[in-house]
Parts: sequence; structure tokens; C-alpha cells
Amino acid sequence: MEFSWSEQDQAFRGQVRAFLDEHWGTSNEDGEGGGDRNRGRAFEKKLAEHGWLTMAWPQEYGGRNATHIEQMIFAEESALRGAPTGGQGARMVGPTLIIHGTEEQKQEHLPKIAAGEVMWCQGFSEPGSGSDLASLQTRATRDGDEYVINGQKIWTSGAQHADWIHVLTRTDPDAPKHRGISYFMLDMKTPGISIRPIEQMHGARGFNETFFEDVRVPAKNRFGEENRGWYVSTTTLDFERSGVHRAAAVERGYKPFLEYAKQADSAGAGSRVVDSNVNRLSLADTATEVEIGRLYGYRVAWMQSKGLVPNYEASMSKAFNSELSQRNARRNINMVGLHGALRPESSHAVLGGQTCQSYMSTVSATIAAGTSEIQRNIIATRGLGLPRG
Ligand SMILES: Cc1cc2nc3c(=O)[nH]c(=O)nc-3n(C[C@H](O)[C@H](O)[C@H](O)COP(=O)(O)OP(=O)(O)OC[C@H]3O[C@@H](n4cnc5c(N)ncnc54)[C@H](O)[C@@H]3O)c2cc1C
Repeated sequence: MEFSWSEQDQAFRGQVRAFLDEHWGTSNEDGEGGGDRNRGRAFEKKLAEHGWLTMAWPQEYGGRNATHIEQMIFAEESALRGAPTGGQGARMVGPTLIIHGTEEQKQEHLPKIAAGEVMWCQGFSEPGSGSDLASLQTRATRDGDEYVINGQKIWTSGAQHADWIHVLTRTDPDAPKHRGISYFMLDMKTPGISIRPIEQMHGARGFNETFFEDVRVPAKNRFGEENRGWYVSTTTLDFERSGVHRAAAVERGYKPFLEYAKQADSAGAGSRVVDSNVNRLSLADTATEVEIGRLYGYRVAWMQSKGLVPNYEASMSKAFNSELSQRNARRNINMVGLHGALRPESSHAVLGGQTCQSYMSTVSATIAAGTSEIQRNIIATRGLGLPRG
């Protein structure tokens, strides 16, 4: 067992920090969500120029053969600053393409993702299919060299900014549900695709309904074999659930709060935080849990560095860290008291209103990328070998 970083990894972490200092600073926004998109995309371009957007990819596709550990250090440091890391293209679509894509698809898409030129969104969930994703109904019908897609997706994060979408469709309605699904990549400008924004309770418009009306997609844009798309998409989902960024995002949210508690003078609101033993212990709990959450993320990266494919390990990391983000937000808002519920626009808000924002925005953390119940089902069946419930 080795619990220390190599000199090379430490030096790399220093380079990432220096780069973030120079080009990004710190943001309270989650790098993948809302915030200033233009600033985010400009920063991603800089990452691309530096070869960091897709650093662990093979050189021939725009990567620089970096180690998984370096990639993880980069993701961790970026999440600690709320900096973007390339979104779905760099984190999910590209890595899945490297495993399952045709050579033509790799040549077409990977260099553009690596250059930070395209933004992707994910069309998986439907109004009637979320956790039971394989029950999806959006239909793709073969017509010569094309498929024609009709149906509706929902909760499509970032569709309003995206250039391309990766979509699951049903191609064989008579087959058992997992075996009649095909996976496609579509240009968002294809005629027949339209979106309608959904407003979230904390005011952001992060996701959308996406409609497909007689949308024609070339058969060469099919990701994996016809009716075998489900098995490709599970790779995408494993990449989505992996990552140390969730634990780092909790740390980013809790550190300023800790400083606030430490700096409180006897008259300030922060004094109530340090004066209360319950609050001191709450901060200790978060500090402990952030360490645990980070180790879950490190474990996934370590497995990848050994050529292993994380599966239920990614679910453990996702479930623990998303639930931790909610516990942390609850603790913070309780510690601050009534001031904590004020929105950023209030002049009485504490820490820029972050307690209120994160309390509301983390509600969705245990739903996005598969709910906690679904992660536990995966851990129970694939991890512990228990029968399906
Ligand atoms: C912030 C956010 C971003 C998202 N972005 C995207 C996106 O970009 N693209 C996309 O396609 N989707 C996206 N989603 C959708 C997300 O994948 C679904 O919301 C999620 O899979 C749950 O599906 P559902 O909402 O239909 O809930 P349901 O599946 O209806 O679940 C309702 C409740 O029942 C429980 N449940 C269901 N089945 C079981 C079971 N077998 N065992 C135990 N409990 C069960 C669930 O855990 C949940 O508590 C996003 C969601 C959020 C919150």
C-alpha cells in the first residue's frame, strides 16, 4: 500500500495550480453547470491549447498519453476551483468513443473534443424512463442509410449550449428491453430537434426537454451495433459516475465556511458558528467525510491506472459523495441560522448566499447520473453478488 504521491505527480499538481491561478482563479459555480458559459468555453480552449482537456487520451486523437493519476489530479484541482473540465465530451463521450467507436467516428469527433470546439449533451432520460432507463420509448426506424428518430427526452443538461447530443433510442420494440436499443450521435442543428428549457428551484436553467420529430441521422453515426446500444451506454454511465470532482466540490463549498467560522469576532454572525459545540462537531464531520469521499475518487482513478474497469466502485463514489454534498449543505445552512437561507442578491446574505444556493442545488445531486437507490442496487448486485430485488 502506498499513500504518498510521486515527485512527478506533486510537480504536476503544482503546474495545474499555477495554471488555474493564472487563467481561472476560483468560482463558486460548478464548472459543468450554469455560470458564465463564454468564460467557461474560453478557459476550455486554453486547456485544449495546453493539451490538458483530454490529457489521458492517446496522442493520435488529441491527447498526450498522460497517466490516469495525472488526469485525476487535474480533475481534483479544477473542481476545487469550480473550473470547467470539458464537460460531457471530454469526460464521457470521448472516453466511450475510444473504447466502442469506429475509426471513422474517432477521427471525426475526438480531435474536435480535444480542441475544445464542441460541446455535448446527453439524451438518455425520458418522461417515463429515468431509473428504468432501458424502458425508453424514443423510436429510431431504419430508412436506407439513415435512421428516422421520433420521441422526447427530458432533463437534457446544457442542451441550450450543446453542438452535439448522444441519444439512446429503441430500434427493436419486440426484443427484450435491453436488447432493442441503439445509441446515436447527432448534430444539434439537425432539422427536427427542438428544446424547451426547464427552470430549477434555485433559478438556474440547466436542463431541458428535447423533442425529436422525424429527425434523420446517418447510420454511420450509430454508436456500437444496432440493438446493442445499451451495452455501450453503460460504459458512458460508468464514466459519468466516476471521478474525484464530487468530493473536491464539497471541499470547495466547505472550506470558505470553515474560514468564516475561524475568523468570527465576538459580535459577528460567524461567532455563533464557533461558539456552538454542535457546529464545531459538524465541521469536523464534514472534514472527515471529505477525506473519505476523496479516497473513493482516488480508488476509481487507481483502478483505471491499473487497466481495471471501475463499476460498482464508481457507484460507491457517486452515492457517497452526492449524499455528502447534501449533508454538507444542510450542516452549513443550519450553522448560519436564518441568514443562511438568504439568496445571493440579499445584502444580508452570508458568504455571498452560497449556503442557500448549495442547499437548493445539491437536492438534485442524488438524482443526476442515477439516483442513490440505483447506485445501491448496483453495489448490491455487481459489488456484493446479491440477487436483484
Ligand atoms: C441535475 C440533473 C441533471 C440531469 N441531466 C441529465 C442529462 O443531461 N441527460 C439525461 O438523459 N438525464 C439527465 N438527468 C436525469 C436523471 O438521469 C434522472 O432524473 C434519474 O435517472 C432518475 O430518473 P427519474 O427522474 O425518472 O426518477 P424515477 O426513475 O422515476 O425515480 C423516482 C424514485 O424512485 C426510485 N426508484 C426507481 N427505481 C428504483 C429501483 N429499482 N429500486 C429502488 N428505487 C427506485 C428512485 O431512486 C427515485 O427516488 C438529470 C437529472 C438531474 C437531477
